[in-house]
Amino acid sequence: MVTRAQFGPWEIEYDREATQAAYVAMDDAYCDCQSCRNYVANAPFFPEAVRQFFDSLGIDPAKPSDITSAVPPPPWNGPLSYTSNLYCCFGRIVSGPELRNYAMSKNFGISFLRELYLNMIPGEISKEQALLIEISITLPWLLDEPYTE
Ligand SMILES: [Zn+2]
Repeated sequence: MVTRAQFGPWEIEYDREATQAAYVAMDDAYCDCQSCRNYVANAPFFPEAVRQFFDSLGIDPAKPSDITSAVPPPPWNGPLSYTSNLYCCFGRIVSGPELRNYAMSKNFGISFLRELYLNMIPGEISKEQALLIEISITLPWLLDEPYTE
């Protein structure tokens, strides 16, 4: 079922059930580096506003298509700033600006991308119906090891 809703300055049409089914079928394909492992370890503890954002779209936040963090000099066990984490859902932009990193709350920015990075679209979501989402977030270090990479 296609729903229309406003996220920040964007009006989005999206299919929550189709996206949920795609994420259930998806592998945990993130890489094994420390910053990716720390991101995924944080996913169950994301702030309420962030969890609500993912939940409305039907996205499992523990399964990003890509993770980019601002890498601090090692050793490090403080908060890590994740600058561009990509997700994908069934949907399209109805209206809204060309804008990156719109602040939904403190330390949580979103963008709906008009440009499609085809290699970032998981196989479970058809390219013709894919909407790419970028989020930025600062997260605590949850791993039992200092950052060394
Ligand atoms: Zn990684």
